[in-house]
Amino acid sequence: MTILPILEIGHPVLRQRAREVTPEELASPEFQRFVDDLIATMRAAGGAGLAANQVGDTRRVAVIEVTQPHLRYPYKPPIPLTVIINPVLTAIGDETFAINEGCLSVPDLRGDVDRAVSVRVRWTDRDGVEHDEPRHGLTAGTFQHEVDHLDGIMFLDRVTDTTTLTTWSQFDEHRREAFVARAQALVARMGS
Ligand code: ZN
Repeated sequence: MTILPILEIGHPVLRQRAREVTPEELASPEFQRFVDDLIATMRAAGGAGLAANQVGDTRRVAVIEVTQPHLRYPYKPPIPLTVIINPVLTAIGDETFAINEGCLSVPDLRGDVDRAVSVRVRWTDRDGVEHDEPRHGLTAGTFQHEVDHLDGIMFLDRVTDTTTLTTWSQFDEHRREAFVARAQALVARMGS
């Protein structure tokens, strides 16, 4: 496995819509190796997810995983390793929640993003199996963040209140306590 360099905001590939992966590609050893590299890179960087664009690849695949203790996001409920290929995401209902997000491609910046609290996600996994499953709460936010990447959208595009933007150390100092309390209430209500 190879740890790949992660591109930072400003690189044009982060603004491209990733293209669908064909069944033939999915089954190829090269693609399966790339998925392994994405997983290894996400884990090495301590991320909760990583999309192909973030390592300069325009295929429509992202990986998501949260195991605790998590250094970047200690308040997130665990998410088992999930490889989403050709994901299609739709909101369930109108309710949103302001999630404070960061991104491996946006060094040392966080901000509040309104995310749907429940989403339906359809995707193909790395074995070619189709999934159609709901995701809720903070986990729904993580899925929305990664699918946004595959559409060329950065979380900063969705920050409507720019006064919520902080560095990570300023978040810890001034905003973490209030956000974690709100996030824990959401998790208690939504179960994730
Ligand atoms: Zn990101």
